[in-house]
Amino acid sequence: MVHPKIAIIGGGLAGSEAALQFAKRNIPVTLYEMKPLKRSSAHHSDELAEIVCSNSFGNLQLSTASGLLKEELRRLDCQLIKTADRLAVPAGNALAVDRESFSKAITEQVAQMPQITRVSEDVTALPEDADYVIIATGPLTSSGLVSTLQELLQQQQLYFFDAAAPIVTKDSINFEVAFFQNRYNKSAQDVEGTGNYINCPLNKEQYLALVAHILDSEKTPLKSFEANETRFFESCLPIEVLASRGVDTLRYGPLKPVGIVDPATEKRPYAVIQLRQDNLEGTLYNMVGFQTNLKWGAQKEMMQLIPGLENAEVVRYGVMHRNTFLNSPAVLQPTMQLRQFPQILIAGQLTGVEGYTESIASGLRASLTLIELLHGETPNPFPSDCMMGALFQYITRTEAKHFQPINSNWGILPPLAESIRDRKARNEALAKRALSALDRFISSEKSLGLSPSVFAVPTAEPIRS
Ligand SMILES: Cc1cc2nc3c(=O)[nH]c(=O)nc-3n(C[C@H](O)[C@H](O)[C@H](O)COP(=O)(O)OP(=O)(O)OC[C@H]3O[C@@H](n4cnc5c(N)ncnc54)[C@H](O)[C@@H]3O)c2cc1C
Repeated sequence: MVHPKIAIIGGGLAGSEAALQFAKRNIPVTLYEMKPLKRSSAHHSDELAEIVCSNSFGNLQLSTASGLLKEELRRLDCQLIKTADRLAVPAGNALAVDRESFSKAITEQVAQMPQITRVSEDVTALPEDADYVIIATGPLTSSGLVSTLQELLQQQQLYFFDAAAPIVTKDSINFEVAFFQNRYNKSAQDVEGTGNYINCPLNKEQYLALVAHILDSEKTPLKSFEANETRFFESCLPIEVLASRGVDTLRYGPLKPVGIVDPATEKRPYAVIQLRQDNLEGTLYNMVGFQTNLKWGAQKEMMQLIPGLENAEVVRYGVMHRNTFLNSPAVLQPTMQLRQFPQILIAGQLTGVEGYTESIASGLRASLTLIELLHGETPNPFPSDCMMGALFQYITRTEAKHFQPINSNWGILPPLAESIRDRKARNEALAKRALSALDRFISSEKSLGLSPSVFAVPTAEPIRS
């Protein structure tokens, strides 16, 4: 059989997973990786699938979003997670590896596959002889390819700095204190006509305690290569920088109370924190203007000082770091194909997923899309009930204007039909539903060539689907 030419650019986590998926189905691919000719400022080894920071792929338990994601990947015969399982080092409930052995093992697997041709090149333009291209060059994509992507997507659809505010689940907000309202009651479009924003009102004492906490808390230091990116901060200052400019700066900035009336007091609060809907389902809300570099523990303590958010479940903490990513809701499909150029697929952190395991998942997804296309079939997105399906729907269907990268979390899954109050029991029920949906998907997508034998991988917990 003559196969179309497939090029994968970037031999990191996503690109290596995609290459191995093709190889095991006997489909030839060319894998372009700029190492060892050139390395990004965060990469230190010459191997493929380098783990740049922590050596953990996250929690293993099925009652966690990360544990569910890994189990879904095993069921899809994910080569990198299977290798991580095999090389795991003791890390309690987490899946951690010896980073050098892991990258070496993946490099060797790629080298042993005659279907994969590895080319060392800093790719600046898309290979002309390729019928399909998967771009998986990561958060630190080299500059030549960034220019090509900018041209392809129009500049405004590519970002270089992740300045994200915390995101919480709506269910965990205390509505005895917080309330829906738009400033000056403008254009309330929700069903009850009460406003689209959730407001957490603060009195003077609460505001001063919050500012003091922000100023006193430990911050995550910027890496040397990020310190040069300060120009990206100017339009999007972190709350700690604003707070350091004067005690009232936040109250005249993102925490301004103008146009808001607290229904409990019928007065304007001293300051207000607004939360904006973050996903289509309305289960997640982000804290408006709250981008921050505070350490995660300090952010958790900060939540406890905010009326209405005392017990908030944080699905993503605020971060500010160098990160090249697409405005995926505007340009990408849940199959990882560009909307305008479906023969070009994007994988890894470039798509706006965040984290090692999520990057691997999107590399796997991109390869499965092409495998279905090669079989003359229309690629179907994963079911939205499973973690991968929900993740790829989130990054491609959420509001484009405020898009920020995200990792796997329970808030992106559609709610269960019945309400379960206990969080662990609810998460386990969501996991069970997710795995059943994925199993049905695997059985129906015959061209993926997945069989029940791939389910035989050991996991930390018994699997009940
Ligand atoms: C400093 C830093 C720390 C991080 N820490 C963590 C963490 O602790 N935990 C976590 O879960 N996630 C972390 N991440 C986020 C993310 O999960 C990782 O960056 C992950 O490696 C992304 O996978 P990827 O496949 O998209 O990109 P990468 O793994 O970075 O792979 C991209 C590959 O493409 C190559 N490349 C780039 N440009 C070109 C080009 N033009 N031509 C050819 N090759 C090219 C690179 O050399 C690299 O090998 C971190 C990210 C950064 C930047």
